[in-house]
Amino acid sequence: MKSFAGTSHSVDETMRIGRTFGEQLVAGDVVAMIGDLGAGKTHFVKGIASAHGVDPDTVSSPTFTIAHEYSGRIPVYHLDLYRLEDTSELLRSGADEYIGGDGICLIEWPEKAESLLPQSTFLVRIIHGGDDTRDISIHPAIRDV
Ligand code: ADP
Ligand code: MG
Repeated sequence: MKSFAGTSHSVDETMRIGRTFGEQLVAGDVVAMIGDLGAGKTHFVKGIASAHGVDPDTVSSPTFTIAHEYSGRIPVYHLDLYRLEDTSELLRSGADEYIGGDGICLIEWPEKAESLLPQSTFLVRIIHGGDDTRDISIHPAIRDV
């Protein structure tokens, strides 16, 4: 699944799309997820993480910390930058080391640290379509969008 555009009609479908996409990811890959609160970014992360042997029930948006680390077959790092003031706060926290590091790095609210994202970052956009409908698009590299 190099690029994708489709509609999800349920939480399970969003997780399935995430899992299928996640199967192609390898250590060092970075995925930026853009979408409003409640769009389904965290459920998409659950799907990606499950493709690497992480129990999706253990996946939740980091709120009081910037990053969660799940130990799957390779490390899966999950960043939520919603509360981040600016890029320098991420650098001070040290969590920037997860970006392009020894595992897969999944970032919610990547807009907060755009300058730290590699050119090869995958971009996932999730748009709330009302009720349980979500339009999901996956772009192979952020620079192409
Ligand atoms: P985000 O991380 O973008 O804030 P979450 O994944 O935490 O979003 O939450 C998405 C919310 O929307 C959940 O309450 C979930 O049950 C609900 N939801 C309804 N339909 C869908 C769908 N098709 N895909 C993902 N989440 C959905
Ligand atoms: Mg979230």
